[in-house]
Amino acid sequence: KAAAAAPGDTGSFEIDLPNASEGKVTTRFPPEPSGYLHIGHAKAAMLNQYFAEHYKGRLLLRFDDTNPSKEKDEYVEQILKDVAAMGVKYDKLSYTSDFFPQMTDCADRLIKLGHLYADDTPVERMREERMEGTESACRYRTKDENLEIWKEMQAGSEVGKKNCLRFRMDMSNPNKALRDPTAARCNPTHHWRTGHTYKVYPTYDFACPFVDAMEGVTHALRTSEYRDRQEQYYRVLKMCQEAWPGLPDVHLWDFSRLTFVNTLMSKRKLDWFVKTGRVEGWTDPRFPTVQGLYRRGLQLDAMREFILSQGASKNVTLMEWDKIWTINKKIIDPVCPRHTAISDLQRVNLHLTNGPQSPEVISVPKNKKHPPAGLKATTQSQDIWLEQADAAAVKEGEEVTLMDWGNCIIRRIETGASGEITGLTGELHLEGNFKTTKLKLTWLPVTRDLVPLELHDFDHLLTKKKLEEDDSFEDFINPCSRWTIMPFYTGTGWRSFAKQPARHTRHFLKQSPTLFRFPH
Ligand code: ATP
Ligand code: MG
Ligand code: MG
Repeated sequence: KAAAAAPGDTGSFEIDLPNASEGKVTTRFPPEPSGYLHIGHAKAAMLNQYFAEHYKGRLLLRFDDTNPSKEKDEYVEQILKDVAAMGVKYDKLSYTSDFFPQMTDCADRLIKLGHLYADDTPVERMREERMEGTESACRYRTKDENLEIWKEMQAGSEVGKKNCLRFRMDMSNPNKALRDPTAARCNPTHHWRTGHTYKVYPTYDFACPFVDAMEGVTHALRTSEYRDRQEQYYRVLKMCQEAWPGLPDVHLWDFSRLTFVNTLMSKRKLDWFVKTGRVEGWTDPRFPTVQGLYRRGLQLDAMREFILSQGASKNVTLMEWDKIWTINKKIIDPVCPRHTAISDLQRVNLHLTNGPQSPEVISVPKNKKHPPAGLKATTQSQDIWLEQADAAAVKEGEEVTLMDWGNCIIRRIETGASGEITGLTGELHLEGNFKTTKLKLTWLPVTRDLVPLELHDFDHLLTKKKLEEDDSFEDFINPCSRWTIMPFYTGTGWRSFAKQPARHTRHFLKQSPTLFRFPH
């Protein structure tokens, strides 16, 4: 086995594809442009990329645009952006709709071979028949009849619209996916790419094997809940190969679907949140979308490490969010700039008897252990603010360290009626050694330059960890998943802060759990 060759090397990840050899592997990532990509799609994209690189083969990106009712060019643009942001490089970009002419032709041939028939059984009835294993009355229409109706379907006529095309497979097979699956149906909707040229669209079950083979995909990766449909894929492919000589074989390989607690991994359901205005949009930091997670502070390397560390496991596991954020923290913590903010409602004044008479602006590193993070301005003044929680921790006579300044001896502590600290007096002791102090306190100068800011904190979309089969997600919407915390004040170096990962928000919250929160 070759070692993992993925960028951002993950060490433990090492899997192989069956029937694969170097230079002879083509994989594909086939998103439907019906929403932005979420982290589940990211797993699919990254696994496909991994195998293409591992075998020095090719990766195709194909927009699976066979359902005009759900798809939009806006989503194509955003998905391209997502793919680029994930660092996924593909060798070729295509659209399933590129193959509509060939698929129309192929359907013709499949009808002539007796593999497809037109069926106008009402949808409900057809579903029942499929459950019972009952053959449709239309199954024995002649080839000529079928060709005739197929023409009507392509024209989108009234007769055509009542029909669909079905593969003649095996109505009594215990595997229901083989009970004459639908191959194509009419849809009069405008297609974002082909307009009104086509009135009939292939189903996923027809388009996927046909286009995979047409594009020379050697290994088609699918999530494991499709396992029941593997046999169907191979049978459709075989019929197509009969109709379309020279069409190569494709190997299916399945991997586990990625799911996370307290959220949804379905574009349709996420779209509901967008449409009902419950989130800002597809890039909302509460969303499990690639763009939402990036806004929340997730780094590409963390996402990749997380996804590849799960590797080839076929078990569908419900992931906790902690796991990915822990990986992320490991990456950003050593390099992240540090800033201080203090809530207006939680601040305590520390008067430094020997502090500077007039405020002095100094420059300090944003992250002492990581100089490239740059410098920030801070002001040393006679009065400074501490956080209530910090003020409550100091004792009279104790020597503490003021971060980026030096030591200070606390001389006097004033307390209010309910025990809260109302003010402190101290004396700078800059000769003091910071190694001898227990408390290292962050502080802000009491100056007019302080910048007010509001902090946002986000909670899960859903209140329930794992939705059961018969749960309806609308019943578990978190009524308040976004909080604004204000007013906060921060120092003069704050502007770069706004661009930093939102992890800071959490950090502040942990320090000040009693802050007032304003629900949205
Ligand atoms: P959704 O329900 O979100 O629309 P989908 O599977 O219909 O999901 P597609 O755009 O068709 O969305 O998916 C593109 C690729 O991503 C497919 O190969 C699909 O198997 C894979 N994929 C989708 N969701 C997940 C997931 N949660 N985990 C892993 N792979 C996924
Ligand atoms: Mg799909
Ligand atoms: Mg879907």
